[in-house]
Amino acid sequence: MRQCFTLVAVLLGMSAYTQDRGWLESHARAYLDTLTSPAFHGRGYVNGGDAIAADWIGAQFERFGLKPVKKDLFQPFTFNVNSFPDSIKVSVDGQLLVPGTDFIVSAKSGSAKGSYHLVHLTIDDLLTPERRAMTMGVITGKAACIHFGSTTDQDTLAMYRAFEEELMLHGPVVKPVAGKLTWSVAREAMRHPLIEIASEALTDSSLIIDLEVTNKLLVRHQARNVLGMAKGKGKGWIVLGAHYDHLGRMGPDALFPGANDNASGVAMLLSLAEYFSKHPAKNNILFVAFAGEEAGLVGSEWCVVDRPIDWAGVKLMINLDILGTGDDGITVVNATAQQAAFDKLVGINTERQLLAQIKSRGPACNSDHCPFVKREIPSIYIYTLGGVAHYHDVLDRAETLPLTEFADVYELLKEFISSMR
Ligand SMILES: [Zn+2]
Repeated sequence: MRQCFTLVAVLLGMSAYTQDRGWLESHARAYLDTLTSPAFHGRGYVNGGDAIAADWIGAQFERFGLKPVKKDLFQPFTFNVNSFPDSIKVSVDGQLLVPGTDFIVSAKSGSAKGSYHLVHLTIDDLLTPERRAMTMGVITGKAACIHFGSTTDQDTLAMYRAFEEELMLHGPVVKPVAGKLTWSVAREAMRHPLIEIASEALTDSSLIIDLEVTNKLLVRHQARNVLGMAKGKGKGWIVLGAHYDHLGRMGPDALFPGANDNASGVAMLLSLAEYFSKHPAKNNILFVAFAGEEAGLVGSEWCVVDRPIDWAGVKLMINLDILGTGDDGITVVNATAQQAAFDKLVGINTERQLLAQIKSRGPACNSDHCPFVKREIPSIYIYTLGGVAHYHDVLDRAETLPLTEFADVYELLKEFISSMR
């Protein structure tokens, strides 16, 4: 009888787990769809997309009953950011190109309007000061098309960038790119634009480029981190963070939805915020949705400086950025500096059989944990491995993001945070 009862309990438990999983996945999917919808404008700087996202996340925190640590849930700060609100038109030899797919306007771009003859340059045209001076003369009133040759050498790439910027002082610069076009955000603007064009659409025999590019540098743009706490049973703190900003729009026609980067991390943050608001952990948990990550970790930098709580009480900061797949498990950045936390994650994973693997990686200043690490606040950063790899492009969409291991990463974090004393 007792055995039978145990079996029923196990089956009930299992179906509850499956039910919970379905509930969790459908909620995560709804969060993802909202954050990546055109109404959020890629959570960037055209049409105030970042502010729309901040308000919406604040409303979710309120719905869960998270409490402000200061006067309200928002932590404002400002930074300069370049943006492209207006329609962008690029044609090569009369062929109109598709923004985001055939070309991107480099984040630091200034404005240009007109028809330009292309002057094709190789690295040899720039290597000595004499050649450079001559080249700058030749390209005046024209557009420089650069063919620098591919390399992965960091010093060479830095030299290429310096030459690009020097050319951008003189006029529009265009560059054929083989492979994917990857966009970003810049906090400054050059005088002229740099257009990266898919190499099928721009060859070394292209003659004329027509440009209609208008940038708008937003000076002291007001952004906000969103912070809410779930009270625990003790005095210690865990900080859970995920950036909600992405790249926004490049003109009205190219939307960068940022599903994996980082609507997926925000969906995890919200899911865990809802759980811990109903099931207090031993530690207090500060949930932070960071702004300005893509512009260079500006939001997390400000959060650390502004000190919403006493950082001395923080046992661990966990940064979530890119959690939409997981076919090959997860990586923990800064694991080598937080060995005990890493071992515990591995222990839970082995016992619960959740993820294919948990990979250890050393320190890397590649997301919002970094400013915390620099302040010697114990921190790790978790991202998923495998599956689709769209990154900083128009293809990073909710429809194609599988959320393969979302529920298992959620289980892992839930148990890990709950078990921290
Ligand atoms: Zn990111």
